[in-house]
Amino acid sequence: MANSRYEYVKSFEAHDALLPSTWIVIRIDGCHFHRFSDVHEFEKPNDENALKLMNSCALAMFEQFPDIVFAYGVSDEYSFVLKKSSKFYERRSSKILSLSVSFFSSTYVMKWKDYFPEKSLQCTPYFDGRVICYPSQEILRDYLSWRQVDCHINNQYNTCFWMLVDSGKSKREAQDILKGTQTSEKNELLYEKFGINYNMIPAIFRKGSCIYREMVDEIVKYNEAGTPIRRPRKKVVLDHCDIIGPEFWNEHPTILLDK
Ligand code: ATP
Ligand code: ATP
Ligand code: MG
Ligand code: MG
Repeated sequence: MANSRYEYVKSFEAHDALLPSTWIVIRIDGCHFHRFSDVHEFEKPNDENALKLMNSCALAMFEQFPDIVFAYGVSDEYSFVLKKSSKFYERRSSKILSLSVSFFSSTYVMKWKDYFPEKSLQCTPYFDGRVICYPSQEILRDYLSWRQVDCHINNQYNTCFWMLVDSGKSKREAQDILKGTQTSEKNELLYEKFGINYNMIPAIFRKGSCIYREMVDEIVKYNEAGTPIRRPRKKVVLDHCDIIGPEFWNEHPTILLDK
């Protein structure tokens, strides 16, 4: 484009390149989703289709932005981890964040009807986002553990809360009963009052959702004798596993390995 005398205005733009050699985490969160979930009559405490829609949008993010190496989602939020060496948009914070948030929001609208064929969208789903750089694997894993602990605490509380409400308590009474209770007391309440073993609740609710790539042997073709020919391929996997303990990371050492 030809230079004009107005070109100087570009010099007012901030340089917002993120710190090099750090894991970039983008966390997006649905704006006013408490209301959004009421308007669309999400099942309480967990609407499985709403979670699956979030997962589907996150999988689309994986396809769209190849530098994403891991994603973790719960409720109306999703965290995306970009590899340490990523040069995506020269690591410009505003570009990375705005692209992620707008791509996720549009995908949510596009896919809505696949997950809620009987319900039309009543209001605009939109998301806020932030971007954070983590300098070590240890801190990055602590970040992901923080989100998964949050998932556990909220889910356990909400499961108790809605069971009490369904059993005839008012929301206020349910709140009072749960006030100050510890994890073990909540598990006991679920078991003794409602016969629910918390560990039997689906993992998607208890653990949230993880997305990553894994080496799998895939059948690529069959030879003349009809024998399948397998080749190792990287495949995107969606799972609801524990990411706090070391097991997952020991089993998947390449996820955070920057090549
Ligand atoms: P903010 O704009 O500050 O993020 P918010 O209303 O979105 O406000 P959050 O703390 O993000 O508040 O919580 C999201 C809320 O959305 C939950 O408390 C819950 O009411 C609702 N929600 C999100 N996903 C689901 C789901 N799958 N099933 C049922 N409810 C959900
Ligand atoms: P980037 O991702 O870097 O923004 P871009 O392809 O979006 O790349 P822009 O500089 O934003 O490039 O230019 C937008 C382009 O989109 C225009 O060059 C034009 O080709 C096309 N475009 C946008 N709006 C219209 C329109 N109303 N009619 C025809 N073409 C349009
Ligand atoms: Mg929210
Ligand atoms: Mg939230």
